[in-house]
Amino acid sequence: MKNISVIGAGTMGNGIAHVFAQSGYNVNLIDVSEEALTKARQVIEKNMDRMIAKEKLTSAEKDAALNRLHSVTDLKTGVAEADLVVEAATENTSLKDKIFRETDAAAPAHCILATNTSSISITQIAAVTSRPDKVIGMHFMNPVPVMKLVEVIRGYATSDEVTETVMRLSEKLGKIPTEVNDFPGFVANRILMPMINEAIISLQEGVAGVEEIDTVMKLGMAHPMGPLQLADFIGLDVCLSILRVMHDGFGNPKYAPSALLVNMVTAGKLGVKSGEGFYTYTPGSKNLKVSAKFGG
Ligand code: NAD
Repeated sequence: MKNISVIGAGTMGNGIAHVFAQSGYNVNLIDVSEEALTKARQVIEKNMDRMIAKEKLTSAEKDAALNRLHSVTDLKTGVAEADLVVEAATENTSLKDKIFRETDAAAPAHCILATNTSSISITQIAAVTSRPDKVIGMHFMNPVPVMKLVEVIRGYATSDEVTETVMRLSEKLGKIPTEVNDFPGFVANRILMPMINEAIISLQEGVAGVEEIDTVMKLGMAHPMGPLQLADFIGLDVCLSILRVMHDGFGNPKYAPSALLVNMVTAGKLGVKSGEGFYTYTPGSKNLKVSAKFGG
């Protein structure tokens, strides 16, 4: 495996392209937006500089990695010689279906098609292609260059051989792959999202305030971050959409998103990316301030 194409140059795509290029693979980073591609390259350079400062990378390794990284706007050209495609475009089922149909038509027959989706069914994505045995989930965690886990998700039709190849490849990136099956939320979000939702329900019912809930979970469970702060980092809109996928997929009311979460997303309070969620975020400031409008 030599040539990797990463579709989508946003938060996750640039991180995925970074780790593949740094591990010696030729990478085509594909996005419909020139602006996203330019920004992605800048972010990758900045993150590599940070690694150089920590003596985890040399300048020569950085230059070699950047030479292996190519920005492409045309999907067909970008995947024409790929051995593996990792799709990390916007989380939207019809968009992913379209990308997988086009990629299936343009990529070589041997090419494995992976998706970094957080919640969309791998089996459903595979069904729009002519090679469902070669479609698999490669769920990297944010920030990709730092986080060790890759949740490798087998769709209903994914072959043993393809799963094995992706597990070994993830290890070559210095990651720890973990194999799971394709059910709504997979494992990471199936367990994480109900916890976040329960924290929001606790706030909504006035069981405790924002800081108190986060403190209990940080100090009591040794979590590096409380669930409400984590929700702000993930994006409250993203949390809501994953909970909805699980609620629809299982038809079980235990996954129903809390009314407060729905209200906050409707009001545009999306967490770090909008500047306000359970806390307010001021660029350049590391102090967390509770955004105090809700609670019991
Ligand atoms: P993002 O919004 O930062 O980036 C998405 C990129 O996709 C954008 O640059 C956009 O221009 C591009 N795009 C849209 N349509 C495209 C197309 N037709 N062809 C090529 N590029 C296209 O999103 P993100 O946070 O990087 O998420 C990407 C994927 O990774 C989603 O499936 C998401 O669920 C998943 N994911 C996200 C996180 C996270 O913490 N952000 C974690 C794990 C998985």
